[in-house]
Amino acid sequence: MENITFCSVAELSKKLATREVSAVELAQHFLNRIEAHRGLNAFLDVRPEVTLAQAKLADERIAAGTATSLTGIPIGHKDIFVTREWASTAASKMLEGYMSPFDATVVSKLKEAGMVCLGKLNCDEFAMGSSNENSAYGKVFNPWDTNAVPGGSSGGSSSAVAAGLAPIVTGTDTGGSIREPASFTGVTGLKPTYGRPSRLGMIAFASSLDTAGLLGQSAEDCAMVLGSMVGFDPADSTSVNRPTEDFTRNLNDGVKGLRIGVPRKWLGEGLDPELRVSIETAIDTYRRLGAEIVDIELPMAELGVPVYYVVACAEASSNLSRFDGVRYGHRAAEYNDIVDMIKKSRNEGFGPEPKRRIMIGTYVLSHGYYDAYYLKAQRVRRLIAREFHETFKLVDAIISPVTAGPAYDFNAHSDPVSAYLSDLYTIPVSLAGLPGIAVPSGMHSNGRPLGFQLIGENFSEAKLLGIAAAWQRETDWHLRHPAGY
Ligand code: GLN
Repeated sequence: MENITFCSVAELSKKLATREVSAVELAQHFLNRIEAHRGLNAFLDVRPEVTLAQAKLADERIAAGTATSLTGIPIGHKDIFVTREWASTAASKMLEGYMSPFDATVVSKLKEAGMVCLGKLNCDEFAMGSSNENSAYGKVFNPWDTNAVPGGSSGGSSSAVAAGLAPIVTGTDTGGSIREPASFTGVTGLKPTYGRPSRLGMIAFASSLDTAGLLGQSAEDCAMVLGSMVGFDPADSTSVNRPTEDFTRNLNDGVKGLRIGVPRKWLGEGLDPELRVSIETAIDTYRRLGAEIVDIELPMAELGVPVYYVVACAEASSNLSRFDGVRYGHRAAEYNDIVDMIKKSRNEGFGPEPKRRIMIGTYVLSHGYYDAYYLKAQRVRRLIAREFHETFKLVDAIISPVTAGPAYDFNAHSDPVSAYLSDLYTIPVSLAGLPGIAVPSGMHSNGRPLGFQLIGENFSEAKLLGIAAAWQRETDWHLRHPAGY
């Protein structure tokens, strides 16, 4: 069975269809691996009996001939998605042990397709962070190097895929939380266009940015699952009503005749030299494969980080107000009156990062500062989006770094602002609502993976996946696995 650990989704699907392996055997295999590698702290809640019951149903569907290509494929869900059968905590003490009365739309859609849930994945508290050091349930380790962060906020997700604890997992990306951890662990991470996957049942951080997506071993794997994950949800007011599409349709198209934009300045100062070489190699490869490489400039995007921390914190302060010990969340054991109860409950339930953001958000939304900060940030956000849309009249996709270097050590950021600044390449994409994909592109001499990002116009996921797949046919970085897994 060891040889199925790093099988692609397509291979697993074939093995299930030909009965080479059953869904129950597959689920048990990954449950065993999760147990064996508990030290990574990637999973927060695993309930083997629930997983195996889902797998049994999948086997029955396969036997009855009503299976989809995903029936019986195991998947893990980031603990930002609410689930009926596993606790949903957003990695916060505030929601410790919370059992949701319903499944998030993303979870229920993948369940309808027959995917088997392995459990809930650790992350930064309320998805706030870039290193998964902010979880109330302990940090997640990077299987490539246990001194390195796995990236955040979807660090449990990235670590699980890299270590072969799940063939594919969900994540959420508000400012980079799928792409950055994917890049730090050598896996492929796709953030779709905002509004394409439903947000219903995603514990809200910043509602105008939060986007569900996937981390897997390849662009092909992500493409296979994406189609069953997205779609119009009348219960989500920002859900986009578009017909479903086949996201695998461009996987074999290659890049001949496509124009790929390179924001040259982003490859300059501040970028790790080995990472720069690996991205330049990817650019040269795309040129050799027939793409036209076009130098571009994105000056507005450079304002992304300050804009993001105004907008995201403002929305977070509003979204997190529901955790007051009455409507939702932890309630303090002892208190004098209702105000004291709410104060104590929030003080005990939230960790330092959500508290910090609630304070920033409350400040920028307050009378007298709203115009100066929040409104101004919204205006600059619009300019960033416009700049991207103008650029996509000239190019089919943009290639860029995901981060300034490979995964860093735990406790590397001495203050929150230096951590905030590390998202400079991913945040502009989120502010504009665009799809982005992180792809493994090499290995640093320190043994940690490297990656690049492809950015596309709204709803161009199929094209982006095709461009990523073209690179993955030329290289084997996405097929490398950390030693010992
Ligand atoms: N690192 C960013 C933050 O801390 C982005 C997080 C995310 O995408 N969820 O807000």
